Amino acid sequence: MSDCIFCKIVSGEFSSFTIYEDDDFKVILDRFPSGDGHSLIIPKTHVANIFEIDPELAGKAFSLAVKIAGALKEAFGITDMNIVQNNGPLSGQTVDHFHIHLIPRRKGDGIKVGWKPTDPAEEDLEKIKEKILGVLGK
Ligand code: 5GP
Ligand code: ZN
Repeated sequence: MSDCIFCKIVSGEFSSFTIYEDDDFKVILDRFPSGDGHSLIIPKTHVANIFEIDPELAGKAFSLAVKIAGALKEAFGITDMNIVQNNGPLSGQTVDHFHIHLIPRRKGDGIKVGWKPTDPAEEDLEKIKEKILGVLGK
């Protein structure tokens, strides 16, 4: 993708602080991090989001997240971390090239990752479940 920032980082046209690289992925420091160690796992091939990525590649990406999370834990002495993966503008995705955020958490860091819990009736949960099963069961 000619106008994709992350494709340009993968190709080397744009610079990045790379902490890991293999045939499938580049892992870089986020340029505008939540805090020290905020990293991004980026597939080398352009794929926009979770709805388009090959499941096998997604599996490798999440497996790599385990490795990088362990490295960040040791490097910064942290024990808490959010793994964030946004898809689409409503979710907060700003770069339309699939990526996984690794966000180290520290006491009082003020980072907000969350949603407002609701309390639906059980019959509504049942209807929602059936709706999804109708698709998964196809
Ligand atoms: P999103 O909002 O799409 O989930 O996350 C995109 C992330 O990419 C943001 O956290 C943003 O700070 C980061 N980002 C945007 N431009 C660049 C860049 O040029 N280099 C790097 N390393 N990170 C970037
Ligand atoms: Zn791209």
